[in-house]
Amino acid sequence: MICCKECLDLLYDYIEGSLDQETTDSLEEHFQECPPCISFMKTYKSTTTICRDTLNQVQVPDAVREALLKVLKENKEHPGEN
Ligand SMILES: [Zn+2]
Repeated sequence: MICCKECLDLLYDYIEGSLDQETTDSLEEHFQECPPCISFMKTYKSTTTICRDTLNQVQVPDAVREALLKVLKENKEHPGEN
């Protein structure tokens, strides 16, 4: 089982469709058990011009930033999963 941080790291490649089948399956398995990551993925997907690096820059949409922070926070609250 992958953790939220890995999930976020893989999200760009997932949306681009460039992950291998095994990794895609792991990611979708994570989505089934992690609603925050689903909502983040949907937000992420709707901002078509975003790339990984923009997460560290100022032009990240508030919704994406909030979702990311929320996911990371929730992941932090469950250190056993990591
Ligand atoms: Zn997650």
